[in-house]
Amino acid sequence: MSLEQPRRDTRLDHYVEAYAERTHGLKVSAVRALFSVANRPEVVSLAGGMPNISDLPLDIIGSTIGELIATRGTQAMQYGSGQGEEMIREQICEVMSLEGITGHPDDVTVTTGSQQALDLVTRTFIDPGDVILAEAPSYVGALGTFASYQARVVHISMDSDGIQPEALLSAIRSLRSQGRRVKFLYTIPNFNNPSGVLTSLERRHEIARICREEGVLVVEDNPYGLLSLDADPIPAIRSFDADNVVYLGSFSKTFAPGFRVGWALAPHAVREKLVIAQESATLCPPVFSQFVISTYLSTWDWKSQITVFKDMYRARRDAMLDGLEAHMPEGTTWTRPKGGFFVWVTLPEGLDSQALLPRAVTNRVAYVPGTAFYADGLGSRNMRLSYCFPTPERILEGTRRLGEVLDAELEIHSMFGIDSTPHPHDFAAGPGPDVS
Ligand code: PMP
Repeated sequence: MSLEQPRRDTRLDHYVEAYAERTHGLKVSAVRALFSVANRPEVVSLAGGMPNISDLPLDIIGSTIGELIATRGTQAMQYGSGQGEEMIREQICEVMSLEGITGHPDDVTVTTGSQQALDLVTRTFIDPGDVILAEAPSYVGALGTFASYQARVVHISMDSDGIQPEALLSAIRSLRSQGRRVKFLYTIPNFNNPSGVLTSLERRHEIARICREEGVLVVEDNPYGLLSLDADPIPAIRSFDADNVVYLGSFSKTFAPGFRVGWALAPHAVREKLVIAQESATLCPPVFSQFVISTYLSTWDWKSQITVFKDMYRARRDAMLDGLEAHMPEGTTWTRPKGGFFVWVTLPEGLDSQALLPRAVTNRVAYVPGTAFYADGLGSRNMRLSYCFPTPERILEGTRRLGEVLDAELEIHSMFGIDSTPHPHDFAAGPGPDVS
């Protein structure tokens, strides 16, 4: 985002001259705009990333909450610590140990979902014009937060093993030679949203080394790590580089997003800043939610619950990959995620996912166009498909409907001899074992 962008606000808005500079580059999230149509029952939505929480033991959670209010209600409904309750910070350290992290509860700040952790980290580090390095493509919600603090996002290309180390190093060096301040690298090493890419262990070490040597902080965003569907989780970057990583976690995907509880584990000095930022944003993260999650973690077999979730998501992931195999036209490629919620599709040359969306919705299937996941307008040949929410049958049907839309479009293209050049930044440029 450039700081010199012209105003795009409408003249009908009386406050147009009053808005802060930082609001000028803000866009309505492509995902939000889609929800109104995609939520119609006749549409198979492969768009939103809502976790499927219908397997949760709602009756048990209900009675646990009733008992919580009866026995500790005055505490649970009171203001709490700006850093988060000590009990849950200890439990968060146990959760993180499943991905190889040794963290101290003192270094954990509880947040309103990991989305708020992203906000606190960005407000703590970013002045207008500072550079944030981010995978290409990257999480739309993070790009929105970065834009709201007037950061300039520079994307680093990925292949099927994650960020390309040479690209990372050369971006840092070239930005510095232009006098830009590179504040941090934002990465989602486990099942990147939107691409599903899993960063290999070797790459994690390389990324950590480059960032450490170059003095660039790593912000490791990991909401999907425990939803590894085919193998044990790979150790987090934070597990071998405690001093240079701010690690973000969340209960949204392993329990339920409605409680809005996430966290940041940060080097001590950074943690102090995050708590001050948290206090000025919310006074304290939601105490009631923390009590509920803490009670859930101490009374329920939450690890087995994650296994139940994984079995359910695996069946959906497999249905999506089968559906794509059966219905995508020639020239279409897609990632084969080993976990998380998303598949990243690259369309045949000449197709534009944004332009196709109205036709797809008319054919009762929705997705998120790839441009939502780039700060620089790229991604027009890509789309993100989510397999987390619809049933396997609906996913299969959704891919069939999508195939129809693409076939029809390709037919028009061949009829009129339409051709266009592929974008130089297209993700599937470097095929590896996970890119079909
Ligand atoms: N990071 C990533 C990569 C995500 O996909 C999401 C949710 N879609 C979040 C952060 C925010 O999640 P929450 O605030 O629910 O923890």
